[in-house]
Amino acid sequence: MGNFSRVRVRFAPSPTGGLHMGGVRTALFNYLFAKKHGGDFILRIEDTDRSRFVEGAEQYIIDALKWCGIPPNEGVGFGDGPYGPYRQSERKETGIYHRYAMKLVECGAAYYAFDTEEELEQMRKRMEQAGVPSPQYNHITRQHMRNSLTLSAEEVNKLLQNNTPYVIRLKVPRNEEIKFHDIIRGWVVVNSNQVDDKVLLKSDGMPTYHLAHLADDIEMKISHVVRGEEWLPSAPAHILIYKALGLENLMPEFAHLPLILNPDGHGKISKRESRFPVFPLSWKDPREKEEFIGYREAGYFPEAFMNILALIGWNPGDNQEIMTLDEMAQKFDFAKVNKAGAKFDPEKARWFNQVYLRKKSNEELARLLMPELEKKGWKGEESYVARVCGLMKEKIHFVKECLELGNYFFEEPECKDHEFLKKKKFDENREVYRVLADALENLSSWEAPGIQETFKKTEFEGKKPDMQTFRYLISGHTSGPGLFEVAELLGKDSVIKRIKKNI
Ligand code: GLU
Repeated sequence: MGNFSRVRVRFAPSPTGGLHMGGVRTALFNYLFAKKHGGDFILRIEDTDRSRFVEGAEQYIIDALKWCGIPPNEGVGFGDGPYGPYRQSERKETGIYHRYAMKLVECGAAYYAFDTEEELEQMRKRMEQAGVPSPQYNHITRQHMRNSLTLSAEEVNKLLQNNTPYVIRLKVPRNEEIKFHDIIRGWVVVNSNQVDDKVLLKSDGMPTYHLAHLADDIEMKISHVVRGEEWLPSAPAHILIYKALGLENLMPEFAHLPLILNPDGHGKISKRESRFPVFPLSWKDPREKEEFIGYREAGYFPEAFMNILALIGWNPGDNQEIMTLDEMAQKFDFAKVNKAGAKFDPEKARWFNQVYLRKKSNEELARLLMPELEKKGWKGEESYVARVCGLMKEKIHFVKECLELGNYFFEEPECKDHEFLKKKKFDENREVYRVLADALENLSSWEAPGIQETFKKTEFEGKKPDMQTFRYLISGHTSGPGLFEVAELLGKDSVIKRIKKNI
């Protein structure tokens, strides 16, 4: 806990698009950690890069966290707490970022740089020609650029008075060891020569991520920074800033989460993935045509989705895989989060949903299915749908599959699989099914055991009906849940009508 008396964590997405599953997992781990320690979970919107701002993305993030059932207790869209505003564009108006930048300039840890785009381009070209593959503005190149380290104080003052555009850069010291602790990775040591002089304040007065998130983390008394591994390379620069400000006592602990990898283990999951959804809710960027389907729309339950995400990279160390959010929070521990990237297993994800589906009552499933049925123009009783769900439950991963795999409960099936009927020698056996239909018609009570009994007893010229064919005639499918239970639920009239239609 270091110097903090209370756990305060933040999820700090930039509204640059739909939040993908990696981002949701980051939010989830923040949520679980806060819950475990009775702390605060904050949503901060990092919207200082206006060029990447996407309309609707902020609302999407809020809606996604709500659907997932992991609401922050402070922040944009969830009720402000004592550290607002929680949107960086609004925080900028308070002058906070400028203040931090000035403090860094005053203590010599940052400097003004007046280089134009052309000058920067020339520098990159020069370095490339000299054999430097990815040139940076750093302890070497800065010596040959137009900045407050190379210009005289007078020149700098003049440029500032003339409103010459400038940025403020971090002055990274030469050849120093930067060492910091990460709860997941242990001690991380980087030589400062690897770190570039990052821009902290841009020429339009906007802070970059590096400055803004750090100022906010300090002001919002953030105790732990839990974020994706992609931010690990920037962390050494952040450590330098805390040190320069003399605020090491307010430095949060870091936890950089492992990447979520493709099922084949090669690279990060792409949003164009076709084998499984990547977004929690369907997402459409207003500037693009494509719409990406979400876990919600694909039929995942939010509890299942959270369970799936929690176990990507985290292993609680016991054999319990199915957990509620409360159980996850109780067990959550960064010591059990892996460093290495974790493969996403789409089959396992479907399995999780199936487990959650089976736990739901038939009535609950029916309630979810009713709107889909109504959309298709089906009119009927919810209690009937509940019985359908009860039968189909064991066969499906998603409630919606009741409509595809159990379509015959809601409409008369087509029995046009001639190959199947040929294989079953149906033409030669039609009479058997006529006899079966007649015997069923004479049944006084319509219940599965009686239907089964009648089926077993049916015989015509030494031939008996075949279960799979019977199923096919009444459902149009060659497999499904308990055949006689299906027949019972379809009802006597319907079963007889369906058989007779085909003979
Ligand atoms: N705004 C950053 C992002 O979009 C936040 C990174 C952090 O958590 O420090 O992921």
